[in-house]
Amino acid sequence: MAEPILRVTDLKVTYGKVEAVRGVSFDVQAGSLVTLVGANGAGKSSIINAISGIVKPSGGKVLFEGQDITKTGAHKLVGRGLVQVPEGRQVLSTLTIGENLQLGARKLRGGAAAAIDGIYERFPVLGERRQLPAGSLSGGEQQMLAIGRAMLAEPRVIFMDEPSMGLAPKIVDEVFKVIEEIRAGGTTVVLVEQNARRALQAADEGHILQNGEIVRSGTGAELLADDGIIQAYLGTG
Ligand code: ATP
Repeated sequence: MAEPILRVTDLKVTYGKVEAVRGVSFDVQAGSLVTLVGANGAGKSSIINAISGIVKPSGGKVLFEGQDITKTGAHKLVGRGLVQVPEGRQVLSTLTIGENLQLGARKLRGGAAAAIDGIYERFPVLGERRQLPAGSLSGGEQQMLAIGRAMLAEPRVIFMDEPSMGLAPKIVDEVFKVIEEIRAGGTTVVLVEQNARRALQAADEGHILQNGEIVRSGTGAELLADDGIIQAYLGTG
């Protein structure tokens, strides 16, 4: 198999005395969609925050294309193509939709306008309402804006933290369609979800987290096909 785009080895994250991630290892192949699923508090967000430089791991190693990025901060990693769409979306609600996208396109010297037009083509509702404050968008539309903004950073790997949280089922389908399109476009996706079934359906590979450890790994299809796994770790999700 080719060298993975990401190799995570024995990753640990602690907050004071809380051991949120207790030695997690997995590879991510370039162009694949990998999902981390598991209950609230299992450590999923902490893992992607540690990989993307938002929190400092207390142990272990992260390689990006073979290079050690364990101690590299988020700002630098964004420049290298590791970009996170944060949980809760965090769009700047008093700025317009257009301004939010311009912030995402900062590093695109010259090509920003064309790239933003590309986002408006993909998400027409954002184009139609580009002059309006981002806070006027629905939850699903804000999620699209957050994803669009992250895509403007030209990610090699995009990390998504609970993109379907709080959205109506029809909107969840739309968000997953966008995630699958991003993967189809060649961008590697690491997806954290509590909506395990939906995430495993979309994923090439999945890892089930419990109390800061990976308890099962497999292809999305393998994990979905095992009723025992779904019952034991994922509820009816
Ligand atoms: P969620 O879906 O709630 O985000 P998760 O699986 O992503 O769950 P984490 O958010 O990584 O889990 O949290 C793992 C553990 O670490 C939990 O016990 C949580 O309370 C704790 N934790 C997370 N962030 C912090 C923090 N900044 N300070 C202290 N404890 C934290």
